[in-house]
Amino acid sequence: MIIDYRSDTVTRPTAGMLEAMMRAKVGDDVLGDDPSVNELEALSADLFGMEAALFCPSGTMTNQIAIKCHTQPGDEVICDFTSHVYQYEGGGIAFNSSASVQLLQGNRGRITADQVRNSINADDVHKPHTSLVSLENTCNRGGGSCYELEEIQKIRTVCDERGLKLHLDGARLYNAIVAKKQSAQEFGQLFHTISVCLSKGLGCPVGSVLLGPADFIKKARRIRKVFGGGMRQAGFIAAAGIYALRNHVDRLEEDHQHAKQLEAALNELPFVSQVLPVETNIVIFTVAEGYTPQNLVAQLKEKGILAYAISATQIRLVTHLDVTPDMINETIRIFQQL
Ligand SMILES: *Cc1c(COP(=O)(O)O)cnc(C)c1O
Repeated sequence: MIIDYRSDTVTRPTAGMLEAMMRAKVGDDVLGDDPSVNELEALSADLFGMEAALFCPSGTMTNQIAIKCHTQPGDEVICDFTSHVYQYEGGGIAFNSSASVQLLQGNRGRITADQVRNSINADDVHKPHTSLVSLENTCNRGGGSCYELEEIQKIRTVCDERGLKLHLDGARLYNAIVAKKQSAQEFGQLFHTISVCLSKGLGCPVGSVLLGPADFIKKARRIRKVFGGGMRQAGFIAAAGIYALRNHVDRLEEDHQHAKQLEAALNELPFVSQVLPVETNIVIFTVAEGYTPQNLVAQLKEKGILAYAISATQIRLVTHLDVTPDMINETIRIFQQL
């Protein structure tokens, strides 16, 4: 048995999801004719109380389209230094938008309104024009940490005062919503635009949605085509998204409980020096002196457990739909025998 904690992207579609995909009504989405894509976009926009949505192949694409739409070449984007948009999208902010970045040192990925206020450039010809703030929730490198809505509200106020747009990389936003008992509607009110991944904890094979005002989504649709993301009978994968939004949201709680079980067990082990506080489905731990993440990951692999070494000292485990309670028990047993 292989127990795969490398990411929540490794899930396979469930039987119910596959059935929904097989039954999907499809058309040519570039022509606007795919009823399943149209339904997914309408459903997503409705869930968040936003005007419109755009279905895209990946979360990288939804983020990059948003950044492209919100900036002009030479503008500056404010984000935490660990942000996916900066660290893991191939330099896309520069490549696609010719924009620069102001990196902030957040608390496990979360930045504050004061930090944002202090990093907006003055209206000075020497400086790039600050036009966008991008937050991540949950924060991947923060170990699945979540924002408080109050802080986001404060950040939004700063953005409104200074004429900036506020984007959310919500690859794992539903994990935060479930863990913090928040609502999608609250997030819809706080952000100008939101990207949500369907292919992570929600268990779809492919896809992300970008949410925003109707005029923004119209522009985003044009950029999606330029980026090569216009898909034809995409309804087969959109149907998986509809199924996930209806059936796979509440169960995220189970992934969070599993992550907490792993956290508790890891905290007892001699070769673990620290576990980042677990809030959702990500467990990041630091290995004690004398051990290396690479070595531990290799030992785990021999025993059928897959994980990633994410830095010179840290290992990441991500729980998801295909991890069962038995697998968690087995994992803890294996860790205790290392
Ligand atoms: C996975 C992820 C994305 C998007 O990734 P894709 O693989 O392109 O779908 C964006 N932001 C965060 C924080 C992620 O974890």
